Amino acid sequence: MNGRYLLLDLVRTDAPEGAQSTVLGTHTLWWFDGQSTRMPRTAGDPGFCAAPAGSDHWQQVSGRLYLVVQAGTSFLTDFPQVPVVLDAGRQLVVDLDGPTEEQVLERVAANPACYGAVPLPAGGAVRKVLPPKARRGGLPELVEELAATVDVSRLRADVEYLSSLYTRLSVHPGYQTAAAWAARKLRSAGYRVSTPLITVGSGRSANVVAEKPGSGPDAKLVYVTAHLDSVNHRDGSAAPAPGADDNASGSAGVLEIARLLAGKDNKHDLRLVLFGGEEQGLHGSTQLVAALPTADRDRIAGVINMDMIGSRNGDGPASVMLEGGQVSVPVMNLLADCAHQHTDLEVETSLNPYASDHVPFINAGLPAVLTIEGADSSNHAIHTGNDTAEKIDEGLMRDIVAMNVVATAHLCGIIGEPPEGKPRRGQGSSPVIARGPGVLDVFGAG
Ligand SMILES: [Zn+2]
Repeated sequence: MNGRYLLLDLVRTDAPEGAQSTVLGTHTLWWFDGQSTRMPRTAGDPGFCAAPAGSDHWQQVSGRLYLVVQAGTSFLTDFPQVPVVLDAGRQLVVDLDGPTEEQVLERVAANPACYGAVPLPAGGAVRKVLPPKARRGGLPELVEELAATVDVSRLRADVEYLSSLYTRLSVHPGYQTAAAWAARKLRSAGYRVSTPLITVGSGRSANVVAEKPGSGPDAKLVYVTAHLDSVNHRDGSAAPAPGADDNASGSAGVLEIARLLAGKDNKHDLRLVLFGGEEQGLHGSTQLVAALPTADRDRIAGVINMDMIGSRNGDGPASVMLEGGQVSVPVMNLLADCAHQHTDLEVETSLNPYASDHVPFINAGLPAVLTIEGADSSNHAIHTGNDTAEKIDEGLMRDIVAMNVVATAHLCGIIGEPPEGKPRRGQGSSPVIARGPGVLDVFGAG
């Protein structure tokens, strides 16, 4: 695939003849593949170059283009030698050639909690910013109540407690302390709690699972999840790992949703899970999914995962990224609707799921969605001793939890389906998979 040319053009909306395109948020990458007969022969080919006078957007690529999804800046940190064609934060487009390609892909596959890579998909939007929507009036009282009663002081207190433990490394006693504390809280909120053991390499850890059976017949199953463990990759396993944003914030979100839904009548079964072993390779979620009986798999209505929901990164508007697979689109639509109804969050979507506990569910064909702070790759504190509670943005955490608690209440039948955001099967009409000139969803076609 040597000799492929690129036109990186952030302005034009019309395709150069014969070019492929990939949209990443506000960026559009136009590119030619090495097989194309229309590929420009020189970098400045006037037949194709629509760049402003004097600038030259063409780049030659020596290898093959890959789309990388990274947690934080993990890929950039671990592979400084790999040429980055486009840095769009959580998503990157990189150029892998020859022996590097094999080595990098091997290491990427061995670290599913850090990053993932696929050949660059052509013809669609890898990441999209959804247009804001006007709020509807006359929502049921319970919906407004749930969104309005998310308690930032409880969220903050839980983040402060969890991040005050020296570390919550999955195989460390600090993790057991955190898990026992969370189990007590969930039990006292009225949930049936278990702590199934998991393996993390040669070590052992545990998930915390809280259940509230549904009151209706033919109950579906809804999961709300977060990983409870923390890690300090920079300074090693003996160093402090406060993990306030990653992921005391998401864990606090699970506990808050547990409290808010405790006294409500859920028609469908609700399970809240705090995972261990996420940072070592999604062990807790992988083992939970592997152990799911077929009868449970077949009735899962949605999995909402929270991982890093408390850091405002950069100067942009407060934003949330909804990340799932094709199977997750109905739940992503619901979440986007809830965000627009109850918060001022900017909503971005991606159909390239990587690097958190939603992945094992999606790999098993289950509709899981990661909800994560926008621009998470600009958060340089994660996986270090600097991921501390005072950096947490209460408003962002509250808004993401408000979106998630209302969506959970819809999914488990506490409130009816919203008129517009109800989970839908199929494509075409959904706001996430909008098709239009120049914007085709990558995975919608096949
Ligand atoms: Zn995390």
